[in-house]
Order: sequence, then structure tokens, then C-alpha cells
Amino acid sequence: NSFLELHLSRPLLRACEALGYSKPTPIQAACIPLALTGRDICGSAITGSGKTAAFSLPTLERLVYRPKSRPAIRVLILTPTRELAVQVHSMIEKLAQFMTDIRCCLVVGGLSIKVQEAALRSLPDIVVATPGRMIDHLRNSMSVHLDELAVLILDEADRLLELGFSAEINELVRLCPKRRQTMLFSATMTEEVNELIKLSLNKPLRLSA
Ligand code: AMP
Repeated sequence: NSFLELHLSRPLLRACEALGYSKPTPIQAACIPLALTGRDICGSAITGSGKTAAFSLPTLERLVYRPKSRPAIRVLILTPTRELAVQVHSMIEKLAQFMTDIRCCLVVGGLSIKVQEAALRSLPDIVVATPGRMIDHLRNSMSVHLDELAVLILDEADRLLELGFSAEINELVRLCPKRRQTMLFSATMTEEVNELIKLSLNKPLRLSA
């Protein structure tokens, strides 16, 4: 029961150590090996379970092998609120601190559209966004697209739906390539969440912690 058993690269193991994580939480132990196989995952997990690192570590591991000569948005993480997006972005920066050249960009309401637009045009590897603001950018900028997306993450799916983001999420899912990995996390598995799972995940493995 150690991070060493999870087949993560050195820079990620170093980051866990630097953050003082001595062993994976239950959701991390369950999620990381499965996520590394590329399968879709839906997890019942609450804040405090370590779910952010559970989806971020295998996602960062996949980015180790990205074609660096072709910059593109390869990971999109959707969160219900700006506060959660800020937290996820900060966690990813910490986990990626020993990796070379990973760029993670925050796209949320309340920040300058122009500054975010410039950041997105430079094609960061990872975008952490709230759905409304991400849609605005994709509609208004020719050079921002999700054609090379490899991983889509829907964090706190129940809250995304409670806050009325269903239409935006459906539109974003349609803009992603069909061949991708999708991970969805939710504190509760409501009827609406199950509908979203059917719509956006392909034969998902179900985890709970
Ligand atoms: P989360 O559930 O993702 O919001 O994470 C809750 C808190 O647990 C955050 O402050 C993380 O830094 C921390 N955390 C995540 N994974 C571990 C771990 N394996 N060991 C100790 N703390 C952790």
C-alpha cells in the first residue's frame, strides 16, 4: 500500500513525497491503476477523499508520453465552481512540479477573458475550467479547440448538474473526440448523474470510496 506500487514516474513520486503523502488514499489506490489502463471511470467520492490526486496523477502520467512537438489541449477538467477550479489547478501545479514543461491553465468566470484567451491560444496541456466560460472560448475563438483531447474529467458531476450546467456539458462532450478517456466523480449518484454517465462515458468502471 504505497505509491511505489502504482507505476507512476519518478517526478510524480517525488511530488507525492514533497506533499507529504506517505500512502495512497482508498480512492487513489483504486482509481490510479485502472485509470492508467485508459478505461473510463466513474467514482463516488467526496471532497476530502483525495479524489483530485486520484484523477490527476494518472492523467499527468499519460502526459509524460505526449508528443511535445505538437502542443494541444490534451486534458479538460470541468468543475462546478470557480473555487473548486482554483483548488484543482493548484493541486495539479503541485503534482506536476517536477515534470518538465507541463502547462495547466485556469479558465473561469471573473478572470480576464483576454488573458485567458491568450493562455488558451498557446495550447496548454491541461485546462481546468467551469463549463460556461469554456464554452464561451470555444465558440468565440477559431484557434481554441478540443480536437486533440485525450482525457475529459467531470469533477463533482452532481453539483455540475444541480447548478444547471447540463446543456453546456453536453455541448462540451460533443466537441471532444469520441476516442478519449473520460472520468467522472460525484458525491451522489442521482438519476441525472446516471444519464450523464450514459451520455459521456464508454463502459465505465465504477469505483467508490
Ligand atoms: P481532495 O479530496 O482531492 O479535495 O483532497 C483532500 C486533501 O487531501 C487535500 O488537501 C490533499 O492535499 C490531501 N491528500 C490527497 N491525497 C493524499 C494522500 N495520499 N495522503 C495525504 N493527504 C492527501
